[in-house]
This record gives sequence, structure tokens and C-alpha cells, in this order.
Amino acid sequence: METKKLWKQFIRRISLIITLFSLGMIIGLFFKNIQLLNKEIESRAKSHFRNIVLTRRWNANYHGVYVKKAEDVLSNPYLENPDVVTEDGTVLTLKNPALMTREISELAQLDSLYSFHITSLNPLNPNNSPNRFERLALESFEKGDRDAHEKINRDNRTYFRYMAPLKVEQSCLECHARQGYKLGDVRGGISVEIDITEVEKSLRLNSVLILVLSAISLLLLLFLTYTFVRQLMRSIEKSQEEMKKLAVTDELTTLYNRRYFFDKLSQEFSRSKRHQRSMACIMMDIDYFKKFNDTYGHQVGDLVLQSVARVLKTQARETDTVARYGGEEFTVLLPETHTEGAQIFAEKIRAAIEAEIVTTPDNQQLNVTMSLGVRAMKYEELMEINDAAILVKQADQALYNAKEQGRNQVQVFQR
Ligand code: GH3
Ligand code: MG
Ligand code: MG
Repeated sequence: METKKLWKQFIRRISLIITLFSLGMIIGLFFKNIQLLNKEIESRAKSHFRNIVLTRRWNANYHGVYVKKAEDVLSNPYLENPDVVTEDGTVLTLKNPALMTREISELAQLDSLYSFHITSLNPLNPNNSPNRFERLALESFEKGDRDAHEKINRDNRTYFRYMAPLKVEQSCLECHARQGYKLGDVRGGISVEIDITEVEKSLRLNSVLILVLSAISLLLLLFLTYTFVRQLMRSIEKSQEEMKKLAVTDELTTLYNRRYFFDKLSQEFSRSKRHQRSMACIMMDIDYFKKFNDTYGHQVGDLVLQSVARVLKTQARETDTVARYGGEEFTVLLPETHTEGAQIFAEKIRAAIEAEIVTTPDNQQLNVTMSLGVRAMKYEELMEINDAAILVKQADQALYNAKEQGRNQVQVFQR
């Protein structure tokens, strides 16, 4: 019972450890997955931003670039003299970095996957006015922040916004020096917006997948651990049973040994007293056993002992305790048995042993006989004694009488 409790405790503890460890792993994996994806999205937005800055620098390095002014090409209204006419009469108009950025952003807008917006806190062009996120970001850049980002939901889609400041570079000063620009000044910023609806969807799917697979693995692990521990428990219980059995069994005859006999004797003694019943003990000793050993050797002697044990086992009832008392002496404990019943039973054993023929390895046939002493006590007699060994001792006295009277017989104890 105590071991059962211990096993249950062990199973509970090992399950708790496995569960906690797995949960730690699952939660770690779950958040690492989200973190990795967020980093990837941010790095994508940063590359877009970097591309725009490079394109602007390319333009500024040429102090703006002229393009052919076709019919639908508008001149930059914020420049003093944006248009020039070549010698052959072609009209060209100046696209400075600011206008180029805005025009590319309009193109990107058509490509719905990402868009960007050039803005500042006091723009010349009202189209470049900042939205809420951009204004907050621009204000934070003035306080020294390097960049800003946020996630928003609009029309059932999710967007990632990234914004970084545009700083005055050497090439900007050519045109903007007179506006008081200085190298490194923050003169606005570019915000990039990426549609991450699909990415978020896969992230959610991934998370569900991680959770489901982890839950299945965890259950499987717990099940395997449980079955393994149960198997271990059963096999340990089995070996414990076997060891217990070995401790009370006589190796040669497989009958109970003397120690078990005395345990059982004291148990039966108290039980008989409690239930006001009689009990009996038969002591037995093989006649002239030395003769078998001396004539045929110890091995044949052992064979005789095994045959006698077999006969005793077949004759005894379920409730009787048959034991090897010592060398070639045996004993049977009979609960709820009077003198007459014990005597009849002893006679049955005597006759069965007499009828038994032991065949030696060299095919000789041996007859064995046995002397038996019976002592049965009624409830009243049992109540008179305190030590159950007296019952055995008196059965042994009866056995001595049987030997004295010529062997191969049953004698009942006489006062
Ligand atoms: P009796 O009729 O008076 O009983 O004569 P006996 O020859 O049987 O005399 P006793 O009971 O003294 O003999 C016991 C012998 O049993 C002595 C011992 O060598 C032998 N013996 C005891 N244990 C074993 C055993 O495990 N195997 C064998 N082969 N012999 C044993
Ligand atoms: Mg003897
Ligand atoms: Mg003997």
C-alpha cells in the first residue's frame, strides 16, 4: 500500500516536471517565433527606407535631374525656375529629390504591398503633412530617437509602419543652404507602410500549429511515461512477490519452509481461539531414510524427499499448510480439524506414501514409508495453552510413539 502511494506520487511528480518543462519550451518557441517574424518585417521596412534615401542621394548628387516635359509632366511649383529649353527647343523640367520622392511614392501606392510618405513638421507642400503616427515620430526624432514603428488595422487588414528621420546631407546644402539648413539637421522623415495581413495570418496559423503539435506531443509523452512507469511498477511488484515467495519456500521440495510454518501456526492458533475452533498438527518422518542416502547416494535421497513432498501436496486441502520441517521431516497444519479428522487424513497420507514408488536414475524402484504423529486440540484445550509450539511438540511425541511401535503407522498423542 505504501509503495502504491509512492508510485502514484512519483507519477504525479514526473508528469508535473514534464508538463512544466514542455510548457516552458512551447511558450519560448511561441514567442521566439513572433519575435523573429517581427524582426524580419522591421528589416524589410528598413530596406525600403534605405532604398529611398539612396535614390534621393543619387538625385541630390546631380543637384536634381531634368526630365523631358511631356504634356502630362507637371513642373515643380515650389522651385523658382524649374523648366529649361534646349537649343533644339525641347523643354526639360527639374525633378529635385523632394518631388522625385513624392512621385515614386505615388507609384508605390498603386502597388498595394507597400507605400511610403515623405513628411515634415512644417512642409511646403500640404500633401506632405504628417499623420498622427508621423507627427509623434517626428517629435520623438527631435528628442533623439533613431526610428519609430507601430502596427495598425485598417479595413480588415494589418499594416506595419516604420519611420526614420531624413537628415541634411552635404548634397542637400547646395540648394537648401539659404533656407538655413545645416549638416545633420532633421528636416522631416519618410514613413514606410507594409501590408502584413498575410504574414500575420501565417503567424497565427503557425502558432496554432505549434500549440496543437505541442499539445499532442505532450500528451503522448505523458502517456508513454505513464505506461513505462506502470510497467516498471508491475515488474518491481512481481519481483517483490517472487522474493517474498522465495523467502518462505523450501528450495528442494517447493513446500513452505519451517519459518513460514511457525508464522502460520501462530496465526492459526489465535484465529482458532478467536473463532472457538479446533486445530490439528501432523508431524511426519520418513522411515529409515538414512538407508536411501547410504545405499543410493544423496541425490536419490533428494528424489525421495521430492516424491514425498509431491504426495503431500496432492493430499492436502487448500486450507492446510504443508511444510518441510527439517531434513526428512514434514508437517501439516489443519485448521478446524478434530482428532478423528486429523487421524483419517494422516492415514490417507501414510497409505499414499506407501503406495508411491520412487524410480532412481538407474531405474531401480524404491518403496518409501513414513511414520506420523497426530495432535488435535479442541477449542477448550487451545484456551489452556499460551504457546502454539506445544501442539507441535505433542504431535512430535506422537510421531516418536509411531517410530517406537514399529514405523509406517499413525499415532495420536496420548496424555
Ligand atoms: P528413522 O526411521 O528413525 O527416522 O530413521 P532415519 O534413517 O530416517 O533416521 P533420521 O531421521 O535420523 O535420518 C535423517 C537423515 O536425513 C540424516 C540426514 O543425512 C538426511 N538428510 C537430512 N536432510 C537431507 C536432505 O536434504 N537430503 C538428503 N539426501 N538427505 C538428508
Ligand atoms: Mg528424522
Ligand atoms: Mg527418519
